[in-house]
Amino acid sequence: MSPSRYPWLLLLLLLAAPSAYGQEWRATQGDIAVLTHQGATSVTVFGQPWPLRPQADGTVQAWVGVDIARKPGDYPVRWRDGNGIATDRLTIQPGHFRLSRITVKKSMAVFDRDQLKRIRHDQQLLRDSYRKQLDIHSDFHFIGKPVNSIVSTPLGARRIVNGEPRSPHSGIDIAAPAGTPITLPAAGVVLLTAAMYLNGNTVVVGHGDGLVEIFSHLQKTDVHEGDKLPAGAIIGEVGATGRATGPHLHWGVRFAGARVSPDALLQGGKQ
Ligand SMILES: [Zn+2]
Repeated sequence: MSPSRYPWLLLLLLLAAPSAYGQEWRATQGDIAVLTHQGATSVTVFGQPWPLRPQADGTVQAWVGVDIARKPGDYPVRWRDGNGIATDRLTIQPGHFRLSRITVKKSMAVFDRDQLKRIRHDQQLLRDSYRKQLDIHSDFHFIGKPVNSIVSTPLGARRIVNGEPRSPHSGIDIAAPAGTPITLPAAGVVLLTAAMYLNGNTVVVGHGDGLVEIFSHLQKTDVHEGDKLPAGAIIGEVGATGRATGPHLHWGVRFAGARVSPDALLQGGKQ
């Protein structure tokens, strides 16, 4: 029995073959991926839930953070909808992250016990702030960058500090003169203000749904923990506090812990 004699049989076999995945999505390390599904009520990717936004056309958008170090490969996207569970595939492609070599004074590259203790304390403060639950929701839209100037070091740059490899750059460095005002890209709540050893004067703002922004090396901070700020509020001034080779803003965006690019937020989800 050959398929050419029984074309209907081949068609039947093809229709009956179980498809492993529904839709196929692609994203790159460091992206915020915007996926859609009709009637979705929840979604799980990378073993964790992500926020959903219903659209006017009846589809539902899911916003998913892909950390800069997320291993490239295929991941299941599990939607729950009115019919049960549907599974899509998300393929993560490697990002193209350039090398960044910086030379700093020894006290900013090799640390004694007290400095290490302070650095670990700073890191813990940051991690705790990222986890704070807020009673507001993000609309996943940034009105603009906090400072309009040249990017001196992009997200994910592989850092070499005084010849030693370090963890990849967790944000975007924007070079600007000291004193340049820093504008908040979206409404949010100030989760942390602190003077840190490496990050200098730092402000963390939460937008809800696990979306957080970090601003570091500030010369001056104009806000306090707990402040509720509108989009466009001035949070402080660009400076060179902490480990900085010159005045710049280190701007980090974290989404449910993932270190991500703000590009999708600046486009308001229109990809
Ligand atoms: Zn930086």
